Amino acid sequence: MDKYYLAVAYILAGIVGLCVGSFLNVVIYRVPNKMSIAKPNSHCPACNYELRWYDNIPVISYLILGGKCRSCKGHISFRYTAVEIANAVLWVLCVHLFWEKSIALTCIYALVFSVFICIFFIDLEHKLIFDRFQIILLVLGIINIFFDKDYGWLSHIIGAASGFAVFFLVAWVFEKVTGREGLGGGDVKLALVAGLLLGWERLILSLIIATVPAAIIMSIATKGKEGEDREFPFAPFLIIGFSVAILFGTQILNWYLSFLR
Ligand SMILES: [Zn+2]
Repeated sequence: MDKYYLAVAYILAGIVGLCVGSFLNVVIYRVPNKMSIAKPNSHCPACNYELRWYDNIPVISYLILGGKCRSCKGHISFRYTAVEIANAVLWVLCVHLFWEKSIALTCIYALVFSVFICIFFIDLEHKLIFDRFQIILLVLGIINIFFDKDYGWLSHIIGAASGFAVFFLVAWVFEKVTGREGLGGGDVKLALVAGLLLGWERLILSLIIATVPAAIIMSIATKGKEGEDREFPFAPFLIIGFSVAILFGTQILNWYLSFLR
């Protein structure tokens, strides 16, 4: 019977994950443009054609339409399909890794990943993190304390405090030394809620995972550029670090600690 429920969970995570991914596209497009996420129906940004339900089926519509608008044949970004697939894959991974440990934990992490995807793509494009996303993560982080048995409540509280302290300090020192803003307030708040979600052990791991590729790519991308051009979205790297830490952090930490014993 347990096997049966698990199989259903996998299938639901995949299908519902795709549909929620489709909704995340609406959020990613409309929140930075200050539009309502409830109304109206989706339109083609080029010709304003209102999408019918059969234009909106995750992945399948994109394949049938060949990545073009039904009305004006304008190019539709692959990002929409990528977001749907990413959300579904992460949801299925959550079921795979956490279902047998705790169904509540599985649901919490699945929702966290959906919020992560929104932050990732909005920051990548607009270099902005909207407070509403950190607030959702904060609520999920508080609920998570009661279900995450691998890391005690103290680990989560210390994680939140150290995430905030480290990022606040780095942002402050960076601004004093260079005279420009390196880390935004959004990054500081994101580190706080991520620390709460992960606990301090996995927070440290996630920051190592995030900063190494960020430092390399940042130094290449901003080489020879001055002023505004040097502004760089850091949140996508943080999101990758946090995500790896949620999915595999406990295994990585256990593997690492096995060398010390
Ligand atoms: Zn169109």
